[in-house]
Amino acid sequence: MSRTFSIIKPDATRRNLTGAINAVIEAAGLRIVAQRRVKLTQAQAEEFYGVHKERPFFGELVGQMTAEPVVVQVLEADNAVPKYREVMGATNPEQAAEGTLRKLFALSIGENSVHGSDSDENAAIEIAQFFSDDQIVG
Ligand code: UDP
Repeated sequence: MSRTFSIIKPDATRRNLTGAINAVIEAAGLRIVAQRRVKLTQAQAEEFYGVHKERPFFGELVGQMTAEPVVVQVLEADNAVPKYREVMGATNPEQAAEGTLRKLFALSIGENSVHGSDSDENAAIEIAQFFSDDQIVG
């Protein structure tokens, strides 16, 4: 078993899609082993997306991520990181495969409904940013 970190982004929480997204996650065999709704601060969002700070979309991304609440989650499965990336679909919903979360729900490349870690190393860093070990119940 391994773990990945997920965020249900503000465009999705705003449209009341948390349950619909969780249903897709669970149907794919990922187990939600921690979950919390939180309004990200500017500092939290800037730290979280720090790797993108030189990119032209950084300011807009941080603005969107802090505008409304998000749901942060830890997901568990065999090969959780690649499995959830597959369930999410491509960053740009126009390129996302049928049935993926971004194909189903994303509004645009920026407001694309979900985040998922891109490596086991980043998953561990991102999980630790939001959850302590005792808050994750596998
Ligand atoms: N993003 C954006 N414009 C772009 C590329 C990315 O607004 O041209 C946003 C989008 O919300 C994306 C996030 O920045 O999910 C992080 O980008 P990344 O390339 O890491 O994509 P992801 O791992 O989320 O698929």
